[in-house]
Amino acid sequence: MSELVPADQIERIVGARRHPHQHLARAVTAERTVYLLHSERCRDTTPDLRTCPYSVALDAGIDPDDWRDHEDGPVVVAIIRDRLFPVIPQWLTDYALYALPGPAAEWVTAALLRAAQAGRP
Ligand SMILES: [Zn+2]
Repeated sequence: MSELVPADQIERIVGARRHPHQHLARAVTAERTVYLLHSERCRDTTPDLRTCPYSVALDAGIDPDDWRDHEDGPVVVAIIRDRLFPVIPQWLTDYALYALPGPAAEWVTAALLRAAQAGRP
């Protein structure tokens, strides 16, 4: 199930600034965890981010095959058939944060969203 990460840490963990309308995420392979950076619009209109449709989709688990070659970096996420898929639009580089002072995992004090293995054939 989803857990909340302090707002001042999640951008650094995901490695991107919060986007006005898009949800961003990072799959941290070392932790087998997907961190979700909700959009400004979502944050401002959703009292409990764990009820956001993107959180609910992530709770269903991701298929590692869908995320292959898109782990350990910021991605935009889309909900397709109730599951989260990574998308890499060209504008994402404008939101990516560079020169992070160390492995993102070092900043983690609480795991946000466990990538469940449910649904794997
Ligand atoms: Zn959201």
